[in-house]
Amino acid sequence: MKWLQPYLERLNRARQQGRMPHALLISGQDGVGKRILAEQLAHGLLCERPTADGQACGQCTACVWLRAGTHPDLLWLEPEEPGKAIKVDQVRALTGELCMTSHAGRHKVAIVQPADAMNKNAANGLLKTLEEPTDNTLLALLSALPGRLPATIRSRCQQLQIAPPDDLTARQWLQGQGLDSTKATRYLQLANGAPLKAQQLAETDSAAARAHRLQQLLAVFKGSQDPIETAREWADAGERQSLDWWQAWLQDVIRWQQGGKPPHEAEVAQNLQQVMQTVDGRQLFDMLDQIFNALNSLGSGLNRQLMMEELMIFWAKLADPASCRTGLAGR
Ligand SMILES: [Zn+2]
Repeated sequence: MKWLQPYLERLNRARQQGRMPHALLISGQDGVGKRILAEQLAHGLLCERPTADGQACGQCTACVWLRAGTHPDLLWLEPEEPGKAIKVDQVRALTGELCMTSHAGRHKVAIVQPADAMNKNAANGLLKTLEEPTDNTLLALLSALPGRLPATIRSRCQQLQIAPPDDLTARQWLQGQGLDSTKATRYLQLANGAPLKAQQLAETDSAAARAHRLQQLLAVFKGSQDPIETAREWADAGERQSLDWWQAWLQDVIRWQQGGKPPHEAEVAQNLQQVMQTVDGRQLFDMLDQIFNALNSLGSGLNRQLMMEELMIFWAKLADPASCRTGLAGR
């Protein structure tokens, strides 16, 4: 990942000049490569025969262990379950390990991911280690939300903020991962320019999940599924992808209603035909506007569940004869 290269070079220069920090706070949005950067840095430090530019050789015993994820001098501090807090007991176990000499007689590296998941006690537990570091240890704290870390933690770390690569670099990398140019552009937009996030979105964009969402929408429209429950499920699953599909389907329906071709996927056409035939075009545009606004306000701290509920209720009402044109077929 060539956009991470300048950061690695800077760190390697610091290492060669004996200025390698004991604690590094690597920040940057999700999917920009913080974890990979930390791993590459760790591998370079733990490798027995690193290259001149500080990269791991990939062949020594240490590198074999690193690849297998079993190197005893690379420690991870992560929540026990995704989304949960990192607890003080976990920090104590880590700091205990860090105090011991390295197994291979070289460095010890600990990666805290995500560092902002540490609760207050855990962060306090880590402070002492940051203030009195052991020789040849590196503590790398990763965070997309470094502002959530206590100032005492931040001030004791050297800060390294990773910016997303420029658009061309990001698209080229995604295309190298097998995405075509249209998809690369589209997912990159959804991921706010973060290449790994874009790749992840593309991978989870599975046909099955998409079909399921479409069926749910039709069921809500027909009144056979509760809009609130559906909204909760979508919000829990991370609504951005679903909203993006929804927006695309509505655009299909609007084009179709205006005399364009039906959606080219038979399943989409079949599920949305009733919507196309029965809902007023103006209301479809209203719905589209609402989804567009929702997509734009994601991540702004608004109540996502409430937002999804409002969208679903609006959608369910489109099928309500009282709020639509009257005398429609199929009602
Ligand atoms: Zn090696």
